[in-house]
Amino acid sequence: MSPLTELYAQIANCHRCEIAKYRTNAVPGEGPEDAEIMFIGEAPGYNEDLQGRPFVGQAGMYLEKLLASIGLTRQQVYITNVIKTRPPNNREPLPIEVQNCRPWLDRQLEIMRPKVIVTLGRYSLSAFAPNKSISKAHGTVVNQDGAIIYAMYHPAAALHQASLRKEIEADVHKIPALLAEARATARAQFEPQPQQLNLFKE
Ligand code: URA
Repeated sequence: MSPLTELYAQIANCHRCEIAKYRTNAVPGEGPEDAEIMFIGEAPGYNEDLQGRPFVGQAGMYLEKLLASIGLTRQQVYITNVIKTRPPNNREPLPIEVQNCRPWLDRQLEIMRPKVIVTLGRYSLSAFAPNKSISKAHGTVVNQDGAIIYAMYHPAAALHQASLRKEIEADVHKIPALLAEARATARAQFEPQPQQLNLFKE
């Protein structure tokens, strides 16, 4: 069993929160274990709960369109949420639910070590940059702690507010350059430094 599959089994058995009683399925996340980009949304909705998969409803279709606009498919990226269980009636996650679920997200990050983390919406942003507001931070790198952490509006918000759609569609186009930058940094870390090369000189 791969570390991620093992983690999914643990998440499915998690009953730290009351809302676990009401779920059809936990929604741990999906995508290749070696994905370079991880998208993190808020919480599963009705369709996600039924299927046990993230972003499969309208917001998911829009996310797929955004990905396609930069030449990516959802199969090439990892997609998850801050919390892995649907809050009843799609209410917003409670602070205690975010807190209880955080170790699962941390473990996903530890296993996968994505090069770029894209936060979708304010809940996801506040998991990485608690004092930033989404209206100011969207389209910017909010942190660079091992991975480049980049903030975007939530696709559902952009779907419902035409004014945000232009912004999210512009913001997604910065991802390829961020990924190129993260790859270059990773390569540089593996390249021998000049002093190390000197060790082999006469
Ligand atoms: N919205 C989210 O934040 N996550 C999903 O998985 C679906 C909709």
